[in-house]
Amino acid sequence: MPSIPMSSPDLTDAERAAVAAVLTTPFLSIGPQIEAFERAFAAYVGTRHAVGVNSGTSGLHLAVIAAGVGEGDLVITTPFSFIASANCILYERGIPVFVDVDPVTGNLDPEQAIAAAEDLMTGSAAARRWLPPALRESNARPGKLKAILPVHAYGQPADMDPLLTVARHYGLAVIEDACEAIGAEYRHRRAGTLGDAAVFAFYPNKQMTTGEGGMIVTERDDWADLFRSLRNQGRDVFDAWLNHTRLGYNYRLDEMSAALGLAQLQRIEELLSKRARVAAWYTERLADSEFFRPPTVTADTTRMSWFVYVVRVRPPLRRDEVIRRLAAAGIPSRPYFTPIHLQPFYRQRFGYAPGAFPVTEHLGEVSLALPFAGVMSEDQVDRVCTALLAMTP
Ligand SMILES: *Cc1c(COP(=O)(O)O)cnc(C)c1O
Repeated sequence: MPSIPMSSPDLTDAERAAVAAVLTTPFLSIGPQIEAFERAFAAYVGTRHAVGVNSGTSGLHLAVIAAGVGEGDLVITTPFSFIASANCILYERGIPVFVDVDPVTGNLDPEQAIAAAEDLMTGSAAARRWLPPALRESNARPGKLKAILPVHAYGQPADMDPLLTVARHYGLAVIEDACEAIGAEYRHRRAGTLGDAAVFAFYPNKQMTTGEGGMIVTERDDWADLFRSLRNQGRDVFDAWLNHTRLGYNYRLDEMSAALGLAQLQRIEELLSKRARVAAWYTERLADSEFFRPPTVTADTTRMSWFVYVVRVRPPLRRDEVIRRLAAAGIPSRPYFTPIHLQPFYRQRFGYAPGAFPVTEHLGEVSLALPFAGVMSEDQVDRVCTALLAMTP
């Protein structure tokens, strides 16, 4: 039987032609495609500005800079995510303050985030317990809390209102990692419009793709100018050619990628509804299974944007054994996420060990991402589910 890919981009001939057309012009970077893509993207999300960059990770890095995070500064974030959402803090020598997640959604637990913000802002004796183990024992004063960085995991928005309230109270920046959540809505507000800035990503497994690429959105004029400067070697928007005002990067999105992004964005609703249909096929088949629990979409998620389809494996079945048995049937599947604090680099640098974030670690052990893409057929979903349900003890 033909094997089922873990994910696939959904591309049309018109989209391939849009990329090829760029190659007949002299503009392969900094041209009309990125401008058009940014304008259309800002209009879609509903923000004043959109700034294209060459990956979601680059976008997160620039958002962390805009939030003023520097040496030793603290950022509250989630350990149940893709590693980029914490690495971007380390790029500026900041320190991620992980707090555990909600057991239903896997998103940042607002109560714990609020407790951490209060302790860290009031400098109470309890503040230290939020720091990574390797820094907890030090006598140095904890750094200054600058931002909260929630992730909309799997395409379901984090519970933002309590986070926004505590951020406003203490003057903290809020950066949404919306890399998995294009088109998602939280209480009828679109992901990307909730924080001071939000970042989207367009790797080929995302809901829409540019190959590599990302987009930062914001309402703030000053931040948009800063993002445009930082992505282009620190040149100020008003600077003469090659006048560099600050340390910048080459995080530009090329014109071929932007052309593909613009074309994909024009049928984003179709891309999202095809994925929702595939998710519904999975849920239909797994709804009655005690051993493979479908994802829960909460009442606050007025629109889910399906990035992945992740089931929870219940005992006596074990997730890693299920992965092996699916692989033997020619079906790929992945653990998703592996908790960030237990990644080798974070253990070494910050002294984390298992037990630090029990909910995250539990989800990390039972979560299984199944093959998922808008172009999947109902037959393929059937094959995956038949293989899963055959493991029912
Ligand atoms: C995809 C993703 C990113 C960014 O990925 P890039 O490969 O750099 O575009 C960041 N955070 C999360 C949660 C993601 O899923």
